[in-house]
Amino acid sequence: MILNKLSASTIVMALVSIISWTPAEAQDTTIRTKKQAELIVPRPAFQPVQSMDGTNSNAMDTLDTADPGVKILLFSDYTWKYYKDPSYALDSKVFSDNWEHEYPDPYRVSLETLPDEIGLWIVDSLSGYRCPNQTDVYSKFGYRHRRRHQGVDLPLQTGTPVYAAFGGRVRMAKYYKAYGNLVVIRHENGLETFYAHLSKIIVSEDQWVDAGSIIGLGGSTGRSTGPHLHFETRYKGYAFDPEWLIDFHSGVLRHRLFVLKKKYLNASSNYVPEDEQEEIDIIEGDTQDREEAAKKAEAERKAAASAQYHTIRQGDTLGALARKYHTTVRKLCQLNGISERTTLRLGKKLRVK
Ligand SMILES: [Zn+2]
Repeated sequence: MILNKLSASTIVMALVSIISWTPAEAQDTTIRTKKQAELIVPRPAFQPVQSMDGTNSNAMDTLDTADPGVKILLFSDYTWKYYKDPSYALDSKVFSDNWEHEYPDPYRVSLETLPDEIGLWIVDSLSGYRCPNQTDVYSKFGYRHRRRHQGVDLPLQTGTPVYAAFGGRVRMAKYYKAYGNLVVIRHENGLETFYAHLSKIIVSEDQWVDAGSIIGLGGSTGRSTGPHLHFETRYKGYAFDPEWLIDFHSGVLRHRLFVLKKKYLNASSNYVPEDEQEEIDIIEGDTQDREEAAKKAEAERKAAASAQYHTIRQGDTLGALARKYHTTVRKLCQLNGISERTTLRLGKKLRVK
């Protein structure tokens, strides 16, 4: 169901991620149900991702790879990483359609035109993630005093660096009404992230940013009662609870592959760990199956241990034996894998219990 919604390239990505993220230890690859298959195939995609640490070393050199859009960055501390050359993403319609600097929602599409579920790759082997401001959520997504709150409020001290959660291109970088100093970044998967109330904006419109780049400093500009980062996640202009994506307390990204459900694009749709519950249900189902199988095997073992046999003598019939051992002909046939018409041979052992 999820896979159907993903493009061929995404499936390739899924394979790449399975190769690079599957732990070395042997895994049980037995797939018994379609539902399990759906969960197992993209499973690495559902693994949480730690917020990355900023590297203190500078890039020394850039090397080409076979893919013109992918470079290798060499750092002064001899580490390296793959890097997606953003200028190649310029070809992508994501960064040209509905691309303007004036409004938080440049799409103005109706909710009915959006699919029920959208599979979005949040990070892959080339795109990182950094928690924009790791702290407990002070004010959650949803209705607040009957007013829509389209993001989460993350307290900070004025001047604290605010990081781009993912790589992308800056669509807005300006003072905008109640948001105060606002940065909006659009990402390759179509998501947009909003960073509001900044004391200082460090990026400019149309600029490409990496995950973890400092895009501004935290503050309290616009309609704000104290220094905090107001952070939003939007798809096609519709905000959804960022807690579906990020656990701000631990800074962990919940999924590499995020299945955005249309119902999340509703102002009262707060994060609930639903997908985890689905997995728990399956694991519990598995355990139940195993327990039932074990019970059945134990019952069979007990029955076998208490089995009684009768050696066929002259004149024995199934009917007579059934009466003698207080059972039925049918049961005797079942126990011995014979039919009522089977000839009872003298000296043969027949199981009667
Ligand atoms: Zn807010």
